[in-house]
Amino acid sequence: MQPFENKVWLASPTMHGNEMKYVTEAYETNWMSTVGANINEVEKVAAEKAGVKYAVALSCCTAALHLCVKLAGERLYGKPAIGHGAVEGKRVFCSDMTFDATLNPVVYEGGIPVFIDTEYDSWNMDPVALEKAFEMYPEVKLVVSAELYGFPGDIKRIKEICEKHGALLIEDAAEAMGATWDGEQCGTFGDYSAISYNGNKIITGSSGGCLLTNNIEDANRVRKWSTQARENAPWYQHEEVGYNYRMSNVIAGVIRGQYEYLEEHIAQKKAVYERYKEGLKGLPVRMNPFDADRAVPNYWLSALIIDEDAMCKQVRGETEALYIKEASKSCPTEILEAISGINAEGRPVWKPMHMQPMYRMHECIGRDGSMRAKTNAYIAGGVEDIGADIFRRGLCLPSDNKMTVEQQNLVIEIIRGCFE
Ligand SMILES: *Cc1c(COP(=O)(O)O)cnc(C)c1O
Repeated sequence: MQPFENKVWLASPTMHGNEMKYVTEAYETNWMSTVGANINEVEKVAAEKAGVKYAVALSCCTAALHLCVKLAGERLYGKPAIGHGAVEGKRVFCSDMTFDATLNPVVYEGGIPVFIDTEYDSWNMDPVALEKAFEMYPEVKLVVSAELYGFPGDIKRIKEICEKHGALLIEDAAEAMGATWDGEQCGTFGDYSAISYNGNKIITGSSGGCLLTNNIEDANRVRKWSTQARENAPWYQHEEVGYNYRMSNVIAGVIRGQYEYLEEHIAQKKAVYERYKEGLKGLPVRMNPFDADRAVPNYWLSALIIDEDAMCKQVRGETEALYIKEASKSCPTEILEAISGINAEGRPVWKPMHMQPMYRMHECIGRDGSMRAKTNAYIAGGVEDIGADIFRRGLCLPSDNKMTVEQQNLVIEIIRGCFE
């Protein structure tokens, strides 16, 4: 088969025209700074779309999550001394199957992530496992939960569990902008939430993020922290540690233009997902799951998981993988290799945090209350490690909104070939 001349990406930026208009406005009026009309407009639109009172525009979602952890930590434990973290020495329950930016900010602030295993039904944090975790560590007061690939799980239940235990919830909606659960936008469930405009997300400014909250004092503190924590004085006066986290007005111009196309991008991503679902029918695979009665995904990434009995042998080390080809069976490594062979980009499902070398000494709690093994094993002591299992059998498919139907059909054909 002839490889695509231009690479088909997992998810790449798509510009439309108005972005440049707003960037040019910033340029021509010399508002080339971290203040300006584009930033104000992004904050207004982001808050409106999400249905929260305040959005604070920041340099990226990781920065937003960092300031979420600081807000939550100070509310729970008071203001730390200079040089100390806001959640120092405290356990924080975190999603396990997510990108590490979800929980690195917990570590920036001295916290100890304790991972919560994943549920098969949504590939998000398992509320049953979260309940178990609170039984084991009732002193925990903070939970960080992410929506994977724009397919929300029962974030409402997670919020209820947090409330029951007097804990605060940070919602990492970086991948889920525009998705809803029970008709409510992702990014509205957390006491503090964060969204991302990174280059591969559903809309992008090349970079950027927003912190979402309904509390005006918190919004103002984030504005202050993100601009070096300057006090109101004629000179540079500082009472607390600050950050250079504010969004640029140039980037905000791009994001402002992109918001006009959020719904269009979601519709395109949905079409990609549905074509895969249809095209892969009859194969021993399933698409990434969601509860159709309650979740409306933004379909950011289409992914699939291979049935257990259709898995060929696959062995993964820390940085390399090998497989043995078997008739009518396949594995993520084989499929990714085949997809890459036609110049398209797939990716393994995000490797769970408890399997990452840097977090291997951290606990990960499953729905039966047992601790996950600190190895690549997906079954240890007869207990299934759901995150490890989805990682072993799952992969993300080329999900670019500019992929043509013909290109996608070829990707589907290639996948079918892997199961011959
Ligand atoms: C992309 C992503 C982030 C980080 O977003 P940035 O804007 O790149 O900092 C955080 N969490 C998740 C789940 C992400 O996918």
